[in-house]
Amino acid sequence: MRRTLPDRIDLLVIGAGPGGCTLARLASEAGIRVALVERSSARDVGRKVCGNAVTEDGIETMREYGAAPTEAEAAAQVWGGTLILGGGNVRMDAHKSGIILNRLTFGQRLLADAVAAGAELVDGCSCVGWTDRESATVRLRWSDEEEIDVSAGIVVDASGYGAVLTQHGGPSHQAPPLGRSDVGIAYREIAPTHEDLGDPKQVFVVVGPEGARGGYGWVFPMGDRLVNVGVGTTLLEAGSNFKDCYRKFTASLPGMRIADPIDAGAGLLPLRRPLPSLVGDRFMALGDAARQANPLHGGGIAPSVLAGGIAADVAVGALGNGDTSTAGLWEYGVRFMRELGAQHATHEVLRRCLDALRDSDVHFIVHELAKRGAMEKVMGARGPRSRLAAHIRLLATIGKRPSLVLALLRTARFISTTQSLYLDYPETPSRFDSWLGQVERQKAELARATSGGKR
Ligand SMILES: Cc1cc2nc3c(=O)[nH]c(=O)nc-3n(C[C@H](O)[C@H](O)[C@H](O)COP(=O)(O)OP(=O)(O)OC[C@H]3O[C@@H](n4cnc5c(N)ncnc54)[C@H](O)[C@@H]3O)c2cc1C
Repeated sequence: MRRTLPDRIDLLVIGAGPGGCTLARLASEAGIRVALVERSSARDVGRKVCGNAVTEDGIETMREYGAAPTEAEAAAQVWGGTLILGGGNVRMDAHKSGIILNRLTFGQRLLADAVAAGAELVDGCSCVGWTDRESATVRLRWSDEEEIDVSAGIVVDASGYGAVLTQHGGPSHQAPPLGRSDVGIAYREIAPTHEDLGDPKQVFVVVGPEGARGGYGWVFPMGDRLVNVGVGTTLLEAGSNFKDCYRKFTASLPGMRIADPIDAGAGLLPLRRPLPSLVGDRFMALGDAARQANPLHGGGIAPSVLAGGIAADVAVGALGNGDTSTAGLWEYGVRFMRELGAQHATHEVLRRCLDALRDSDVHFIVHELAKRGAMEKVMGARGPRSRLAAHIRLLATIGKRPSLVLALLRTARFISTTQSLYLDYPETPSRFDSWLGQVERQKAELARATSGGKR
């Protein structure tokens, strides 16, 4: 029997992660006909290799869009933890509350909510690409190789890191592919521990562990003697056997023996500022597919929910007005950049500047920011409230080496200009080319300034 989809689809959403499910639910609630296509079978939605940590700010964002985790979906509530720097030489307390999600339970609930709101789920089915970009027609394929072509009023790529449609002509501006320094790789296990964790409300984070320069290792509690442990860095820094790095990391954990895992795997994610254009004619990209995870620490669950919420609002309006062109969908990009894209662009700048510094300087910066309680403020504040540049400038006043002071002042300057540029994201597509020109010039200047840095 040949499979079919509903005759008329207003919104075709590819991928039932947090971003796709949020969009599908909100648009369905507004009376839009939504089909949600997911590669996995429905029962596996939410089975994702992830640290699953969401901060209090992230939860607040998710609440705004009706996707806050319930108590049952939180494996553990945490209030802060221990930060290890400088190869173990510096150990300090960090205060940032949040939760560690039970991702499968959470993912299943987001999917159930979308379906309950009226979204038609097409599971066990992959989108393999565009058949005809102009008419927004894509090809779907089931595991038995059956294929159909489907078009919709708007097609949304929420397929995560693979970005099946975004990478091949989805948005109005085709961004260059990610380089090896822009792709995060992490290996993580969920495993029992042999002993009590001490305070089960604490996370444990090691900055730049052996084999993961520029990245971090983590131990996140998941309730009674169960932990989510992982190590992440960029593809550029990761060795050919990244699992070795994980083994060394777990062997170095003080007083903690990790048992055989109940779940294990590696995953990739984009560590770069968002795509400059998030829309095209009859097209939107969101979540990891649109590079919306945080470029410093890789947190992408709350950002994808935020993007799904804004995209739903704009898509519903555009379908109602009968204008699903790039111009009709443009507002999604404007709102996302102001809400979060500006912050992520500045975090990318900070990461590039830190990459060019000596490890000891990076540890000095992280240590001083954490000591002043600035990490939490810097990481959490969205839009115009971010005071990252001011904090970096303050560190320049206490830096001891002149070259570090200069590097900090330069970093603060790049952060300020990048923030202004993204907060001033063009209101219409007509100003986009000149805005992008400024962004590219600034990125080239940053690359020049950091290329001579000490590694
Ligand atoms: C190892 C690791 C650790 C992380 N730790 C954290 C963390 O602690 N906190 C945090 O906030 N974020 C973390 N992240 C990032 C976070 O997991 C992602 O940013 C987030 O899941 C993005 O949501 P999304 O909806 O965009 O995509 P995803 O959650 O990736 O969902 C995409 C969905 O699309 C489906 N799909 C893919 N291709 C197709 C296709 N061709 N056709 C149909 N369906 C398709 C997939 O099966 C999946 O269900 C981590 C990521 C990794 C890899």
